[in-house]
Amino acid sequence: MNQDYIKPDNWSIIEEGFDAERVKSSESLFSIGNGAMGQRANFEETYTGETFQGSYIAGVYYPDKTKVGWWKNGYPEYFAKVLNAPNWIGIDIEINGENLDLNTCKSVSKFRRELNMKEGIYYRSFEAILQNGTEILVNITRFLSLDLDEVGVINYEITPLNSDAKIVFKPYIDAGVTNEDANWEEKFWEIQDLQHNDNEAFVTARTFKTHFVATTFMHNIVSNASESVANLGKDKAQLSYEINAKKDEKTTIQKMGGYTVSLNHTDTIAAAKAVIAKAIQIGYKQLLENQKIAWAKIWEMSDITIDGDVKAQQGIRFNIFQLNQTYLGKDSRLNIGPKGFTGEKYGGSTYWDTEAYCIPFYMATKDQKVARNLLTYRYNQLDKAIENAEKNLGFKNGAALYPMVTMNGEECHNEWEITHEEIHRNGAIAFAIYNYYRFTGDYSYIPEKGLEVLIGIARFWHQRASFSTHKNQYMILGVTGPNEYENNVNNNFYTNYIAKWCIDYAAEQITKVSLEYPSDHKRIIEKVKLSDAELQAWRKVADNMYFPYSEELGIYLQQDGFLDKDLVQVKDLDKSQRPINQKWSWDRVLRSPYIKQADTLQGFYFFEDHFTTEQLEKHFDFYEPFTVHESSLSPCVHSIQAAKLDKMDMAYTFYLRTSRLDLDDYNKEVEEGCHITSMAGTWMSIVEGFGGMRVKNDALHFSPKIPKEWQAYSFKINFRNQILKVTITQNDTQLSLEGTTDITVFVNEKPVLVKS
Ligand code: BGC
Repeated sequence: MNQDYIKPDNWSIIEEGFDAERVKSSESLFSIGNGAMGQRANFEETYTGETFQGSYIAGVYYPDKTKVGWWKNGYPEYFAKVLNAPNWIGIDIEINGENLDLNTCKSVSKFRRELNMKEGIYYRSFEAILQNGTEILVNITRFLSLDLDEVGVINYEITPLNSDAKIVFKPYIDAGVTNEDANWEEKFWEIQDLQHNDNEAFVTARTFKTHFVATTFMHNIVSNASESVANLGKDKAQLSYEINAKKDEKTTIQKMGGYTVSLNHTDTIAAAKAVIAKAIQIGYKQLLENQKIAWAKIWEMSDITIDGDVKAQQGIRFNIFQLNQTYLGKDSRLNIGPKGFTGEKYGGSTYWDTEAYCIPFYMATKDQKVARNLLTYRYNQLDKAIENAEKNLGFKNGAALYPMVTMNGEECHNEWEITHEEIHRNGAIAFAIYNYYRFTGDYSYIPEKGLEVLIGIARFWHQRASFSTHKNQYMILGVTGPNEYENNVNNNFYTNYIAKWCIDYAAEQITKVSLEYPSDHKRIIEKVKLSDAELQAWRKVADNMYFPYSEELGIYLQQDGFLDKDLVQVKDLDKSQRPINQKWSWDRVLRSPYIKQADTLQGFYFFEDHFTTEQLEKHFDFYEPFTVHESSLSPCVHSIQAAKLDKMDMAYTFYLRTSRLDLDDYNKEVEEGCHITSMAGTWMSIVEGFGGMRVKNDALHFSPKIPKEWQAYSFKINFRNQILKVTITQNDTQLSLEGTTDITVFVNEKPVLVKS
């Protein structure tokens, strides 16, 4: 953990001073994205020090052939890689014959990065003395346009400080890129076409196997420069412009670049030319202005303000900013990858994270279409989920097992304990359908699409459960729960509980649709061939599900045999042993009682209403002391539950941990990228944790609490197409409504009429 590296600021992420050791971490933290593409904050100019180069295009991936020690039947053929896309930001720079490189300069001073989250713009500046003695000041502005989401813009200014200087700008685009994370060190892109004119260049490349075509383009504007000279390589196009710069006068290159891809265009080169023409017509200044306006619009709805605690404020804004950089809900083929556009780790783009953690954020801060798009993504992949259950488990009759990790509906993660055993993900997908209807009131999704998904999932649980004659109950054996520090356990409480719930909920919705939407009911039942006998068989499983329970402690057990472990709490574990996933062998981790993230408590989070507060407290007090929170998804759920239980100091500590996980690098891995999906959990920890927001019987409820460190905080909720603003201070709760219909909300169970 490093608390002093990023300067506290309400609206910006700021780094001051150049530290080569931190370049990779900062490349993650200062990443920019616009939903369609994104990139790590790599330098434009040459950098020969340690760096992790990364540019990404939403939806473009590569199926990297699986590599395992011992092949086992059922392993997915490939691990889908988030693909490092061609580089369009590069500008080699020569100053008086020397290549500018912060790794080899004589000195670098006044180095500063600022990611202005309010405007969606990344700034970098520094002064440097080159080995040849030339002193320069550099100021760079970069952003990925929200308006024209295929275009990014760089404004790169150099001022010679101690003499006139000959500057050569050599902007390039380069498709000769590789992934850090590649199983066979193969190249993922093959070049198809390379062309240029005076100020522009286009490199068209196709991914092997998946055959995505991307044209990477650039257009440069350089004032007072010589004619450009082109240098075309095999997969790189570079132009160079020479300038005789005067001392103290700034010289500028403006580079517009980006990608047009076959996901959206049939002719990507023509599309690239058209988008450049559009960007030039709008012009740099206006694009910059539009960027500020577009981000202001996002913040207008999604901002959370916190008064009196800059670090907490910076944390939540960073999280909200990153979520919006990653996914804007425009395209139902896309999803929210755990690393977004900030790194390669985790491969595929879609995990249960989307349904369990991200949907509430998007549902409450955007038009409800966005959450519906996220649900539709799974509906569109139902056939693949059915195929997956058939192929891997021999299941029949339309049972659907959604993948743990996917890009296109196929499973693309290849650790058996996750792919084959972490089947609880199916539950979160069903829960999200329930959650969507509970929050938006839009029932139409269920008869149109959701019910088929619910049926496929219920069928899966029915077939996956096995009957124990010994216990006379149904078991779910050989699973990995949310706590990935246990594999192949029997009767993980969370999994069994959500399995039963899925069956109950699907059965309930079948009845509801039959009564309220009879023609949809008929269509679906005929399509999926569901009989009463099958429904009875499901019910038998749901009604007789086994849950491991300790009478003595009055708690559900995470899994069979949990109490047989050596129950030494985390506080009694030597600090040098943490994080255990970096210090211990897997065998040791598995035998230990340590819990990676909320597991039994995840069940209590989803199904809070099924338990009393006393039960929650008992389970929280038992499980949290064994929890190491080594998943980014862990602190948020614990923060919400601690707030509910009035353990406010704990809730606040967990809040800081979730909101500043990357900024303060709690898990010592930020250089690999940021933890995007858990950022939605941070939002939940304020709105559902401190604000206590719940939806019950079509109404919003709040039980507001406020950490003692804060004077006030406020957030907005799009509740059924009206915007409710909630402000909570140390003394009261204020509510106001932007909308046309008065609503009644409940504050600490008391009804309050909020006038429109
Ligand atoms: C967590 C999973 C999560 C994945 C991606 C893992 O570390 O244990 O629950 O789905 O990260 O965020």
